[in-house]
Amino acid sequence: MVEDSFGPATEAGIGNWDIETDVFVVGFGAAGTCAAWSAATAGAEVLVAERAGAGGGAAAMSEGIIYLGGGTPVQRACGFEDSVEEMFAYMTAACGPHPDKPRIEKYCASSLEHFDWLVERGVVFDPSFCRETSMAPTGEEGLVFSGGEDAYPFNEIARPAPRGHLAKTRGSTGWLLMECLVRSAKEAGVVVETDLMVTTLIVASDGTVVGALARRYGDTVSVRARKAVVLTAGGFVFNDEMLARHCPPLLKGTFKVGTEGDDGRGIMMAQAVGAAVKNMYAGEVALPWIPPRRLIEGIIVNGRGQRFINEDTYIGRIGQAALYDHDGVAFLLVDEKAYTENWMGLKASWVCETIPELEQEIGLPEGSLETTIALYNRHATGNADPVFHKAPEFVRPLEPPVGAVNLSVGPAPYAPFTLGGLDTDLDCRVLDLSGEPIPNLFAAGRCAVGVCSFGYASGMSIGDSTMFGRIAGRVAATGT
Ligand SMILES: Cc1cc2nc3c(=O)[nH]c(=O)nc-3n(C[C@H](O)[C@H](O)[C@H](O)COP(=O)(O)OP(=O)(O)OC[C@H]3O[C@@H](n4cnc5c(N)ncnc54)[C@H](O)[C@@H]3O)c2cc1C
Repeated sequence: MVEDSFGPATEAGIGNWDIETDVFVVGFGAAGTCAAWSAATAGAEVLVAERAGAGGGAAAMSEGIIYLGGGTPVQRACGFEDSVEEMFAYMTAACGPHPDKPRIEKYCASSLEHFDWLVERGVVFDPSFCRETSMAPTGEEGLVFSGGEDAYPFNEIARPAPRGHLAKTRGSTGWLLMECLVRSAKEAGVVVETDLMVTTLIVASDGTVVGALARRYGDTVSVRARKAVVLTAGGFVFNDEMLARHCPPLLKGTFKVGTEGDDGRGIMMAQAVGAAVKNMYAGEVALPWIPPRRLIEGIIVNGRGQRFINEDTYIGRIGQAALYDHDGVAFLLVDEKAYTENWMGLKASWVCETIPELEQEIGLPEGSLETTIALYNRHATGNADPVFHKAPEFVRPLEPPVGAVNLSVGPAPYAPFTLGGLDTDLDCRVLDLSGEPIPNLFAAGRCAVGVCSFGYASGMSIGDSTMFGRIAGRVAATGT
């Protein structure tokens, strides 16, 4: 819960500045490390305030998937063809509705260079591919499909290519990525003050942002930023009041994906100086019901016993649809051939000899499941799914006895984070309600808009936070 006022404070009200720097970066996570590195490398004096006891942010706790494409060395080594155009076609289809085409275009065009930049920062990507998961593999593989690129409708829009890149280590890889980025920023000369929480922006009489107030153990510290303040303070999934106002479906999430720093303060202190926000209803919702992929041979239905999506698509698309459009009520129906415990131990809650029995046990409307399975099986005899277009390899008639895994909120984990934030131009300048840049204020990462207007693929958050973080730092330091 955010307590104090969001300001702004006025320059006239500051007596003596406690600290002065050229570029002041708020937060030392995915976007902040990159912003700080590029501002320092461009010659600016850079101070970072990090409210936690160490840098890394949510990114250090993350799976560490980074969405990169266009023909990276890892993609090529694994035998996948990709191009900037194919990546753009996929992302404009997947990140909408109302995709931000110019932002996506910039992201795709910069992707190969960003891959090289990460490698130069010491990130090692193993040139190997894991088919089984769209999360971090249990092995050291460096590449996964992370957004349903090989599933309908995207497989008909762009040539499917995996773009989820991971630093080389087993399991979650975010800590390793962040170790490289934190080290690089410090080597570039960035000064990092930890346990320092920025609360309020300071503006001059003409509205120019000239610094910020921060708190450390009850003391208030004023920081003057001669060139710019860069907000990279994360999103707002840990602020229930903001979720209720902008994005109520995410209140139902059972595992907030982030840190307590994702309290929305970075967004609100900028709103207090006139910043506009965008895409605030959008949220990623991971529903990690696979692996194993054999479960995809089952079907997922809502509380009305109806299918609503192709089960072979990205788990986040399924989680998002279930939470936003179906009240977080979903069931996975499987027969004996498809059934196995999922990777996190989710088991069938009901097993029945017949479909009407199962329907009754779950409490679905009479006849609903029977009708759904009859229609599914009718086409599945020919390995077809004309309703939702699941790939033929997963389509065959379901045969009783049948069981159901409860994929509803509660029995199953729904893991959300927010995708909306401060509106910025492509140089990460924060825009006001008229669309004009607020002088000397920049933002990147989850406190700003990113490439996802609503739809998401794993890796796009760290991908756009790091890439646009770099841009924010450079432009903050040099003006271009
Ligand atoms: C378990 C988990 C798995 C994930 N997996 C992936 C994945 O595989 N791929 C992917 O793309 N994304 C993933 N994410 C999401 C991703 O980590 C975040 O969305 C991403 O880190 C956002 O970057 P950021 O720089 O905006 O925020 P962060 O990386 O969280 O950095 C923000 C920093 O700002 C600090 N801060 C906040 N407020 C203040 C303040 N007022 N003053 C000073 N400091 C402040 C915070 O303490 C934090 O260190 C995952 C997240 C989690 C938790």
